[in-house]
Amino acid sequence: MADEPVVVIVGAGFAGLNLAKSLAGMPVRVQLIDRHNYHTFQPLLYQVATGVLEANSIANNVRSIFRDQKNFSFTLGELSRVDHGKRCLQVVTTNGALVEVAYDFLVLATGVETDFLGIADAGEAFTLKGLDDAIRLRNQILRQFELVDAGALDPQSGALTFAIVGGGATGVELAGAMSDLFGYTFARQFPGGLVRNTRVVLIEALPRLLTAFHPESGAYARRLLEKRGVDVRLGESVEHVDENGLKLRGGETIEAHTVVWVAGVRAAQLTDTVPAGHTKGGRVVVGPDLSLRRHPDIFVIGDAAAVWDQRGRLCPQLAPVAVQQGRHVARQLDRRLQGLEAEAFNYADRGTMSTIGRNTAIAEFPLGMRFHGYPAWSMWLGLHLIELIGFRNRSNVLLDWGWNYLTHHQGAGLMQCEGLRGPAA
Ligand SMILES: Cc1cc2nc3c(=O)[nH]c(=O)nc-3n(C[C@H](O)[C@H](O)[C@H](O)COP(=O)(O)OP(=O)(O)OC[C@H]3O[C@@H](n4cnc5c(N)ncnc54)[C@H](O)[C@@H]3O)c2cc1C
Repeated sequence: MADEPVVVIVGAGFAGLNLAKSLAGMPVRVQLIDRHNYHTFQPLLYQVATGVLEANSIANNVRSIFRDQKNFSFTLGELSRVDHGKRCLQVVTTNGALVEVAYDFLVLATGVETDFLGIADAGEAFTLKGLDDAIRLRNQILRQFELVDAGALDPQSGALTFAIVGGGATGVELAGAMSDLFGYTFARQFPGGLVRNTRVVLIEALPRLLTAFHPESGAYARRLLEKRGVDVRLGESVEHVDENGLKLRGGETIEAHTVVWVAGVRAAQLTDTVPAGHTKGGRVVVGPDLSLRRHPDIFVIGDAAAVWDQRGRLCPQLAPVAVQQGRHVARQLDRRLQGLEAEAFNYADRGTMSTIGRNTAIAEFPLGMRFHGYPAWSMWLGLHLIELIGFRNRSNVLLDWGWNYLTHHQGAGLMQCEGLRGPAA
């Protein structure tokens, strides 16, 4: 056991988690490192932000997931440096101590972070990348409604305007979920017509929504969102963000106390130091087997990696790609240990989906199969339930969705203490 090679994986996201699981039973020691002690199911973050689900329904404790895997260990900490010459990492633990971790094989699966695209003060906006972001946004939404209801904020000042920057899947899903929250749940919880003052604005710089989908799906999403009262702005880009709202390049100002930035991502800064080429979004260019050409003992997988499929297309930054890459690297490590040649990664595209609010979604599958509306929404529900990790999470989510569907009531609407502040000095 002691002389078995050590595979260090940084990142307990979709890629890292699936790799670590696939290494069970292999003659290696697996050490997983993450800055959180849990895995987050990011596709459902918008439901935590809009009070449909509790945070713990979409997160799993890493040690609990791997409790039965004998060759597994976990370290809670933040990777700060890779010394590929000495084959070791420096990891900062939660008390600020620096520990060194040696590896035989290193797999970086650190994902991406929000890219504010150089827009002044956009960093002040709300984001939706992790569980903390989702809880922060949920608190903000609830706080704004409570303050207006209490007469402490003027609804005409942008207090109930929610501007979402970025018309990709996350922006569309969030806009749809916000309009459901305000139109169904808050309409009954805040009497007196408060919701009539709400405004959801979705801003996209390109001329259509959901550019990763077929143009018809983007047009469908736009029609539906507009029907639900969302103000969709296409071909408009943001020049400036501050606490009062944002300014568009065309000169228009939108007063909004809540600006949510979901317009771009870039690979985590740390991957900039990886000795390999990088794409514009900071993704590390890897070889066909997902290892670095000059350092074959280092692999990069998931959103942080750039690899082209056999038809010359850059693999998208999606959960199924990350899952398949994690499993692929496990197979390659197995082959290396047996002295076999490396195999190239090939992404098996099984389709993409996005919700647009209650009862409606878009689902696209290979060979041009497209579904819109209720059938796509049912497929989306089923798939996400299957993909969630752990029986407890699946049953919690199923219960919350059922309750929400039947009663139109989003149950996870607790505002955490940070939402309550004392009077200004
Ligand atoms: C809001 C949202 C909605 C999405 N919806 C969908 C969807 O509907 N369908 C879909 O297919 N995809 C969706 N995605 C994309 C999908 O979540 C990603 O493609 C997937 O998570 C990538 O997996 P990963 O393992 O590469 O990275 P991640 O899942 O992001 O995991 C990276 C891990 O690395 C850790 N980490 C990062 N840096 C360090 C460090 N320095 N030290 C220690 N740990 C570190 C992080 O804590 C994290 O646990 C969505 C993403 C977001 C943000």
